[in-house]
Amino acid sequence: MSDAPIRLGYAANALRRDGELRTDTSLGQALGHPQARVYLAARGQWLCGGGEAPDPGFSVAEAQALLGSSPIEILLGHEEAGAPRLVAGIDGSDLPEGTALWDLRTLGMRELLSPEVEGDLAQGAHLLNWHDSARFCGRCGAPTVSEAAGFRRRCTACGHVVFPRTDPVSIMLVHDGEGRCVLGRQPHFAPGMWSCLAGFVEAGETLEDAVRRETLEEAGLVVEAVRYHSSQPWPFPGSLMIGCMAKAPQSPITFDATELEACRWFDRTEVQAMLEHRHPDGLVAPARFTIAHHLLAAFASGRELP
Ligand SMILES: [Zn+2]
Repeated sequence: MSDAPIRLGYAANALRRDGELRTDTSLGQALGHPQARVYLAARGQWLCGGGEAPDPGFSVAEAQALLGSSPIEILLGHEEAGAPRLVAGIDGSDLPEGTALWDLRTLGMRELLSPEVEGDLAQGAHLLNWHDSARFCGRCGAPTVSEAAGFRRRCTACGHVVFPRTDPVSIMLVHDGEGRCVLGRQPHFAPGMWSCLAGFVEAGETLEDAVRRETLEEAGLVVEAVRYHSSQPWPFPGSLMIGCMAKAPQSPITFDATELEACRWFDRTEVQAMLEHRHPDGLVAPARFTIAHHLLAAFASGRELP
């Protein structure tokens, strides 16, 4: 295995959020701070200066010039030294000279930003997606407004308050405790790529039960022990990937053809070859910034949990 450090994408957000401490003046104070920076998203992509060394931070004046009459309403938080970080959506039709739109997956895959800024953008993407989907009250249908600098929204008619939601997804490295693991292929995967099984945690379900249910549904395997490994913000549009190791006795796989086009057991040497792009059949693991890659790397080096 390579000794190069592997960086988990979107996972190094270091902002101090202070959501519960925000008041009616928090947004104005942040916008007036000389070191404030605003991240600007257009249709899921991020406006960056800096050419091939993308820099997504803009001054408040630069952001307001692009936003026109639409306000900056969402404060992500403050950096350790006190500089505020905010986020807003632009239409992206008329980009300033020297800027370009970058996809967040590309930024993560190519490790083009500092880990902290990459984490800021993940938070920003998640919040913009949520605010956009929560513009009307789920109780009475009236418009809602952003409050506490984007920390929550309140209904203008009935006062109902809603907070940003996060959708938990279980993602599991299913292994047999004897050096073999289960990987599957979804139809939309890039050619040759295989990954861990995964699925949304459903209502009233523990994480462990979600792992067991998804593994049974997708691969027909009965999971015994489930161990938490690590997690990753995944703002497409608002998930938290919760990585687990799941032990299941070796038995034939009967996979769900509606979700997967293939699913089978792999041994450790095969997984190592996939991670290092030297598999004889050209099979590969997911990119290094994904939690699936990290689960597979742990398995490949014999660090799967019991
Ligand atoms: Zn309402």
